Amino acid sequence: MLKAILFDLDDTLIDWSGFGAQWEDRERELMGRVFDYVNRELHPLDDLEDLLGVFRKRTFSAWETGRSSLCAPHLGRVMVETLIEAGVPAECVDERRCLEAYGWEAAPGVVTFPDVPAVLELLIEHQVHIAIVTNAHQPMWMRDRELEQLGLLDYFPECRISAADAGYLKPHPHIFEHALNCLGVQASEAVFVGDNPVADIAGAQGAGIKAVLRVRQPMSPMLSGLIVPDRAIHSLAELPDLLDEWFPGWRG
Ligand SMILES: [Mg+2]
Repeated sequence: MLKAILFDLDDTLIDWSGFGAQWEDRERELMGRVFDYVNRELHPLDDLEDLLGVFRKRTFSAWETGRSSLCAPHLGRVMVETLIEAGVPAECVDERRCLEAYGWEAAPGVVTFPDVPAVLELLIEHQVHIAIVTNAHQPMWMRDRELEQLGLLDYFPECRISAADAGYLKPHPHIFEHALNCLGVQASEAVFVGDNPVADIAGAQGAGIKAVLRVRQPMSPMLSGLIVPDRAIHSLAELPDLLDEWFPGWRG
């Protein structure tokens, strides 16, 4: 019996293909806000580029560790370490306030895929629980602001999980189990939908959840022999028919 659909966020529910700016420019803008906040309220800093250099080095290292251990990077921890390395006294650094200054929001050009709202509404109408499970290094309260701007937050009152909060990155089973527990459903009663073959497909299957690949680009030949999604779809609009096939009567 179908009880829940778990969705990846980036490039599954929201489309990053229209993000025209360089990531480095966006990062400079966000860290510029932190630089201004720290200078104004905590401690004099010399140079934004120096701060950015430390931040990038520590971010890179946190993701490197994450990829090898699946322990999730956490933007707040990276931020605190960065500021301390830049000379800000540790006792002055409040993670939450620094992240508030950074102020994550929807990046320019990022939009909700047009096929998403109707499918979410259909699932909700038929009492299917829905959740977001993202490999974001931001705590979920930051991504929530973006979800609100993109018109998605109200669809997911029950369960939104970022890797930063869960402590583990997909494909680690812990983050999937965390989502199932949050919704009170069994793996066999859930389906995962995501665009990343390793994180989403191998990860969900490893946790015993049927996995649907939202195809954004052809899977690399190296992976395609190793990872086989339970189904591949090109649009979320294909999901209801697939559920009819797997869980006959779910709309009942
Ligand atoms: Mg994704």
